[in-house]
Amino acid sequence: MSDSLHPDSLAVHAGRDDLRRLGVHAPPIDLSTTYPFESLDAAVGSLDAMMAGGGPTEAGGAIYSRLYNPTVGRFEEGLAALEGADAAVAFASGMAALTAIFLAAKADHKRHVVGVRPIYGTTDRLLTSGLLGLTVTWTDESGVADAIQDDTCLVMIETPVNPTLDLIDIAAVAAVAAVAGEIPVAVDATFGTPVLQQPLRLGAALVMHSATKFIGGHGDVLAGVVACSEAWAERLRQVRILTGANLHPEAAYALHRGLATLPLRVRRAQETASALATHLVAHPGVGAVYHPSVAGRDPRGLVGTQMAGPGAMLSFEVLGADGAADGPEAFAAADGFLRSLRLATPAVSLGSTDTLAQHPAGLTQRVSTGEARSKGGITTGLVRVSVGLEDADDLWADLRQAIEQGRRQD
Ligand SMILES: *Cc1c(COP(=O)(O)O)cnc(C)c1O
Repeated sequence: MSDSLHPDSLAVHAGRDDLRRLGVHAPPIDLSTTYPFESLDAAVGSLDAMMAGGGPTEAGGAIYSRLYNPTVGRFEEGLAALEGADAAVAFASGMAALTAIFLAAKADHKRHVVGVRPIYGTTDRLLTSGLLGLTVTWTDESGVADAIQDDTCLVMIETPVNPTLDLIDIAAVAAVAAVAGEIPVAVDATFGTPVLQQPLRLGAALVMHSATKFIGGHGDVLAGVVACSEAWAERLRQVRILTGANLHPEAAYALHRGLATLPLRVRRAQETASALATHLVAHPGVGAVYHPSVAGRDPRGLVGTQMAGPGAMLSFEVLGADGAADGPEAFAAADGFLRSLRLATPAVSLGSTDTLAQHPAGLTQRVSTGEARSKGGITTGLVRVSVGLEDADDLWADLRQAIEQGRRQD
């Protein structure tokens, strides 16, 4: 697919180059777990190529679907095009993708990761637990240079940050990591999507998405994906072959289909999120509103440079009957808000066609270690909203009635 095409065109066409030749319009779903081979020689050649992290040979074929699946390959091609990457490698979940990044980055004498907090709670736990044989130093964006050691193999960041939607300066972190010894930077860009930011263009070595979220976009697929150079992709494919965290071809089909509407969905939801943020700022029952479109929430002006827009995620504090954003009354108001929603769904996760609302202090941040949780302004009144594709006025009417209803139920 030509690099000169606009991303919106790539979203619709990438990974579909051969369809006309095949005489079909929709990509075929290949469910084979095993593949017949013509000759042993050809099969051995293909197996060797894949064990080394490459693709199957033309003559030898895919051999076995833990090594390669063409439907998964189509989605990977599409996603790589949107990230401006050489390659992408898909996994059974976002956590499987992160695990593969950590295992691929780990080297004999380099087993230390610098992690920038806050970060997705399960990522925090995975690194803190030592499960993968890695040690971690947690820091904030300004502490990356000091946290890098001789045995550092990776700097891990996430932006936009959950649930405050703060933006980390990817180019600045990548520059620091490069000076410190060409340390690769991995970015969890789940909240930003490739529509709004392409971290590889800013110096990151790896960009990762929980494709469960905006990329799948319909709340019905669990998946993860990493976009990177071909050299990194080879290491990630080797990890995938050995650990077996493969994406199912039917899930890959749904994700590939989801890419076609990703730009439209993200831009529309983002526009609605900005409108809701404006309403929320003006509402007397609401405390802090977290969205990069809100005055003061993007102090370095990264919207418009690093990110093409403020995104479709927002958080805000429902104030308790006592007027406080934290404490038992705020908790009751947030609980009442979630129970009073009629159009939006009280649920974790994000990036679906419909609007989802959840309570970070009670749910998603609970997974983080206590130390990580106590920082970052996560009050008991804070709710996070993943804005969907409903009409903006209908959504505001729902949020407003739920805020007012929730505070009355106190
Ligand atoms: C959901 C999520 C993950 C984990 O992805 P799964 O697909 O649930 O395994 C990682 N990072 C972020 C930012 C997420 O939102």
